[in-house]
Amino acid sequence: MKCVGVLALQGAYAEHFKIIQQCVEVYKYDIEITTVKNESELARCDALIIPGGESTSISLISQRTGIFQALVNFVNDPSKSVWGTCAGLIFLAKNVKNTPELVTTLDVLNVKVVRNAFGRQAQSFIKSCDFSSFIPNCTDFSAVFIRAPIIESILNLESENEDNNIRVLYKLDNGSIVAVSQGNRILATSFHPELAEGDIRFHNWFLTEYVL
Ligand code: GLN
Repeated sequence: MKCVGVLALQGAYAEHFKIIQQCVEVYKYDIEITTVKNESELARCDALIIPGGESTSISLISQRTGIFQALVNFVNDPSKSVWGTCAGLIFLAKNVKNTPELVTTLDVLNVKVVRNAFGRQAQSFIKSCDFSSFIPNCTDFSAVFIRAPIIESILNLESENEDNNIRVLYKLDNGSIVAVSQGNRILATSFHPELAEGDIRFHNWFLTEYVL
């Protein structure tokens, strides 16, 4: 049985937990779900979801609670899957623009990310997106962007292993990259699929493609 963990230090972890639970109920997957607050909980996981919230807080709390290095090891382990949403994406990135000194990241995702790229809370928005190029038939997903980051660029990988290649999954109309996959193992989205009310398609796709 595979175990999916949701990092539960800060942010929208309960929402992720609930949707994964719904997927397991609906599709009868042989998957266990756990919240992760410490190293021993992380050790049981095959996959980890890092939720949205506030990347500065998630970074700081993970350092203070002593789980930070175990997270670094986990996200670099080729046998593990990872999905970061919004603040989770920032926490995974190798390069952060806009107050990088406030976020010590896990330094694994080969992108330069811009925090708060759309402005303040008031500029948050919901956009119906066509994800059918990677999620079959998913032409109308309500993507929630809350003080969201964008991926400004993909970092140069010349010296790196091909397994670390980034695939751009989705761009907004203005060209901003908001969903990527690295080595078919690490997924990162700048929006919040866990807040798309009652819609379990994105999480179900993550489970089928990255976990099962
Ligand atoms: N702006 C937040 C940050 O920098 C991310 C917002 C979110 O996760 N919704 O961490």
